[in-house]
Amino acid sequence: MMKFENTLEFAKKTDKENPLISYRNDFYIPVLNDKETIYFAGNGIGLQPKGVQDYVLDELENWASYGFVGMDSGHNPWVDFYKKFSQRLAPILGALPDEIVVMDQLTANLHFLLASFYRPETGRKKIIIDWKAFPSAVYAIQSQMQMAGVTLEENLIEVDPREDEHYSRSEDIIEAIEKAGNELAMVVLSGVNYYSGHVLDIKSITDAAHKVGAYSGWDLAHAVGNIPMQLHDWNVDFAVWCSYKYLNGGPGAIGGLYVHEKHYSGGKPLPRLAGLFGSDVKAGYQFKEDFIPLKGAAGWQLSMPPVLSLAVLSASLELFESAGFENLVAGGRDLSGYLVFILKGILNSTQAKPFEFVTSLKDENHGCQISINLGPDGKHKLDMLRNNRILITGFADHTVRIAPVPLYNTFEEVFLFGKILEHILIAH
Ligand SMILES: *Cc1c(COP(=O)(O)O)cnc(C)c1O
Repeated sequence: MMKFENTLEFAKKTDKENPLISYRNDFYIPVLNDKETIYFAGNGIGLQPKGVQDYVLDELENWASYGFVGMDSGHNPWVDFYKKFSQRLAPILGALPDEIVVMDQLTANLHFLLASFYRPETGRKKIIIDWKAFPSAVYAIQSQMQMAGVTLEENLIEVDPREDEHYSRSEDIIEAIEKAGNELAMVVLSGVNYYSGHVLDIKSITDAAHKVGAYSGWDLAHAVGNIPMQLHDWNVDFAVWCSYKYLNGGPGAIGGLYVHEKHYSGGKPLPRLAGLFGSDVKAGYQFKEDFIPLKGAAGWQLSMPPVLSLAVLSASLELFESAGFENLVAGGRDLSGYLVFILKGILNSTQAKPFEFVTSLKDENHGCQISINLGPDGKHKLDMLRNNRILITGFADHTVRIAPVPLYNTFEEVFLFGKILEHILIAH
């Protein structure tokens, strides 16, 4: 563990020695009034890698030169292009390439997997979610329950935080799982909660769900590219994510889904909402066969993959590969550790008005994001931060999310952020 100091010299020296520091030059850093911002919102919309334009231009040229022939010509035949991404995401998700497919977007993918895994006619109707699960995930689950004629009141179970805490604890979720027992269909939980930044114990929760015969499903929007995971070894049944946050895939980027190998190797394929691109495309065009899903997660695809969105994502994943995901995880830990150190320093200084930590500060309980509540007047403080070129996102309850990321943020930025925040808290 790095020993931190609350000085500009320490921050600069640490940046200089940081092997990841050069990756910052591979990104466009947003500018306000001709000056670079301190962008701690990579958990909302990750920044644009400079390589994006080349990747996109390349596909535009392929389209111009080949027309439909591009489906199976050029260096990225479009019909297979998606496959590269399963390989590239495997170390980030801790899954087999076959278990991963990039497709559609998070909420759509959650609907598709609920259609396969949520079978209330078996008598298992209940679904457990975490407190402040993302609205989209909640809407997806609610609407699936409604379509199946399942009442929400008894069957959608939210695990509330303990008093004075702001996240569902893993052990409380496990208790809720044991209580629901054989009425539980599945858990659908946030690997990292978007509001609190809280990391759940995916492995222990998955074990507990399996013990009562339920599935373990995950919304990994804030987990993918942020925290290390072993979805395959942990036996997670299914998961979905978006690519525009830590993965820097661009606004509205193509998302992805994961299905554990055990659900497609042998036996009858799971029922699903099917489309041509989830099957052998060539056979389908010849109207030769009924729908036979492709092996693995790829068999959940419906439509032709959006080649331009894949091209955008290529640029960022190339940087993930070059940096090494393990190194990024370690770099992210050091940065968020420094942020916590700086924030605690502000709390301890007698002058500054206090704020409240929303995130649990144990290392294993958070990734890059630390959330704090700025208290009354928080909106004004957020505006002041923005006037000082600090870009972070916040909510109506005055909770703000601060997420320095290892690919393009620096210790110096964390230090400067601390100074500016302290100044604002003292002045107000
Ligand atoms: C950002 C986010 C989403 C976004 O889903 P979309 O389908 O891309 O709108 C879903 N879940 C969580 C937890 C998120 O943070």
